[in-house]
Amino acid sequence: MTETQFTPRVFSGIQPSGDLHLGNYLGALKRFVDWQSKDVETVYCMVDLHAITVWQDPKDLMHSTRELCAGFIAAGIDPEKSILINQSQVPEHAQLAWIFNCVARMGWMQRMTQFKDKAGKNAQNASLGLFAYPALMAADILIYHATHVPVGEDQKQHLELTRDIAAKFNHDYGVDFFPMTEPVIEGAATRVMSLRDGSKKMSKSDPSDASRINMTDDADAIAKKIRKAKTDPDALPSEAKGLDERPEARNLVNIYAALNDQTVDQVLTDVGGKQFGDFKPMLADLAVAKMAPISTEMGRLMNDTAEIDRILTRGSERAREITSPILRKTYDIVGMIPPVV
Ligand code: ATP
Ligand code: MG
Repeated sequence: MTETQFTPRVFSGIQPSGDLHLGNYLGALKRFVDWQSKDVETVYCMVDLHAITVWQDPKDLMHSTRELCAGFIAAGIDPEKSILINQSQVPEHAQLAWIFNCVARMGWMQRMTQFKDKAGKNAQNASLGLFAYPALMAADILIYHATHVPVGEDQKQHLELTRDIAAKFNHDYGVDFFPMTEPVIEGAATRVMSLRDGSKKMSKSDPSDASRINMTDDADAIAKKIRKAKTDPDALPSEAKGLDERPEARNLVNIYAALNDQTVDQVLTDVGGKQFGDFKPMLADLAVAKMAPISTEMGRLMNDTAEIDRILTRGSERAREITSPILRKTYDIVGMIPPVV
């Protein structure tokens, strides 16, 4: 960890915008669990306010939020050790986001590639929330004075913007109030690609179910999707360099390495020279062994949604012990009368 005057604290979030997938697991959840066993406070969040920046059916959203909470716990997040919350239940996130809307500049937001990707060709018809998304994300992080944010590679640009917002706020008001948050983008699978197209990230919002392995998929579905995953006709190389210009092959090897807690070179020492016909069943077995127990546990937790709601209520009470004083101090810095609690 780098030196900072701020107490180290980890924050990260996932959107309840559909089924959790292998990219979320390897790029985010598995990393969150690693942080939980270090000597640092961890706050993990279901970011429902981000999810509604694109249309969500209300019934699906509530189900996805609870299922995401079940996914966090099934993957190894302990709601006693970590603070586990749903974003909209901790109102200080949205309150600070408004202030950050007034700090962030239009030009900064216009450079965000996620907005361009998600808005697509019809940007005029995108929601204002989708455009403002990174300012809310900065608020999610900075309302905890979080110092470290484990994320997948796709979030790097948003974390740079978070630092820009913190720096501009500190500079404009002449304070050293918000920390310069460090993105933590680690492991062999920081960007898991679609199983159908090695140039596209695996995403909840991809309309093709075959493009991703969902955390709720059973063993048969996982094996079938890996068998059908796009590859090239060559054998696997013996060194990582041999995966250059082979995005699909690289993706499957990265997934294997991350699931097995190995480096890519270690994996290739074992499987170099194999054809995909031999490697894919090995990968399918490994993915089933690691993912199927999580999926079973998610199903069990979803049998008691009242318990999930209690966990989230308790999480939001603990979170507000941190966020409420930070928001009051922010109001004071900005010159606004503090909110009534
Ligand atoms: P959506 O398509 O709705 O944006 P998503 O699949 O991108 O959903 P998010 O909730 O936006 O998922 O992201 C949650 C976390 O998972 C973030 O830290 C993000 O960087 C990480 N993540 C998402 N997709 C991948 C991926 N393909 N590989 C690695 N990490 C990923
Ligand atoms: Mg995303």
